Amino acid sequence: MTMKETRHIDGWFGEFGGRYVPETLVTALDQLEEAWAEAKSDPEFELEFTSLLRDYVGRATPLTHAPRLTEHAGGANIWLKREDLAHTGAHKINNTIGQALLTRRMGKQRVIAETGAGQHGVATATACARFGLECEVYMGSEDVRRQSLNVFRMKLLGAKVNVVEDGSCTLKDATNAAMRNWMETVDTTHYIIGSVVGPHPFPTLVRTFQSVIGRETRTQCIDCFGRLPDRIVACVGGGSNAAGIFSDFIGDAGVGLIGIEAGGRGARPGDHASTLVHGEPGVLHGSRSIVLQDPDGQTSTVHSCSAGLDYPGVGPEHAHWHVEGRVDYRAVTDQEAIDAFCLLSELEGCIPALETAHAVAGAVQEAGTMHRDQHLVINLSGRGDKDAEEARRLLGDLD
Ligand SMILES: *Cc1c(COP(=O)(O)O)cnc(C)c1O
Repeated sequence: MTMKETRHIDGWFGEFGGRYVPETLVTALDQLEEAWAEAKSDPEFELEFTSLLRDYVGRATPLTHAPRLTEHAGGANIWLKREDLAHTGAHKINNTIGQALLTRRMGKQRVIAETGAGQHGVATATACARFGLECEVYMGSEDVRRQSLNVFRMKLLGAKVNVVEDGSCTLKDATNAAMRNWMETVDTTHYIIGSVVGPHPFPTLVRTFQSVIGRETRTQCIDCFGRLPDRIVACVGGGSNAAGIFSDFIGDAGVGLIGIEAGGRGARPGDHASTLVHGEPGVLHGSRSIVLQDPDGQTSTVHSCSAGLDYPGVGPEHAHWHVEGRVDYRAVTDQEAIDAFCLLSELEGCIPALETAHAVAGAVQEAGTMHRDQHLVINLSGRGDKDAEEARRLLGDLD
């Protein structure tokens, strides 16, 4: 495979980003970049996207005070940015609606996507149903097992689910399969990447579609407590919900930003998916970022109880925020996440996704070190219905 690396000024975040792809994809990425540049300067596009976010996705999502979780943590006031209340139950829909609009603009009829937890697959299948686009989703067989309900939802929505049996049979392998298919079908097909990863322009494109989360949060914080929050905490898989809420606050030095990665069973290689905590610079899935890899540069196997965080890479903009020190990235273990899954359910009546539970665990630890007159926002990236079966297995049935 000949790799052509083109330096696009726009596609770089410090030393991270770019486009490391086979030549067959360069034209499609240029076409996407062009379609998006036109869309951005077209008021009709903005209007249609905004109306869909309001009338179809149900935005703005609320910012909810969490009094009992606040009491439990014993420090800062905790607030929940309720992406779990967005249509299909997670933030992913913000991006798939935007990219489905671009697919239509480019005159393509077929969409492919990768999925881990199945939330991006469901959100893509949903957007494709809404716009009458053909949809195929690639999903690792391990994730098909862990998230069988989402597989059925995708089929109900009219999508074809391709089960991937390569490697660890999780998100990385599904992404490889989707990229391979895209190379063969690029003339008719758009690849809707589910996070702020991949070659330029995807990281910027996906962050832009998700940045509505941060803009709403800013206004809502001012309405609810009269100023910006002291901390924002979000979980980081590829990094799209985190980038969506962080991006509006990057320039506000008083707002501490904390990204929570999957600490899995512990810090040994292969036992976690804490890319920024333990990784090294490298290239994965079309861009240069920080990657979990062994001393020979092979991508590591990863582990997390949460399918959506079980990924050895991270978006290049996060790698940049990490080396700049703008965002503090930490790891939360499977056990801490499962405890937080139960905690938020019992104390606030919100069952979070297992991915989101990592952010809840990290936020409770952080809030406990803060003052009672301070404010911390958790990006509640998704609801936990999809994880109820897996949580039951992990917890043993509750009495
Ligand atoms: C997919 C997913 C994530 C992880 O993806 P990011 O791109 O890091 O946001 C987190 N939470 C939920 C609920 C998800 O569905």
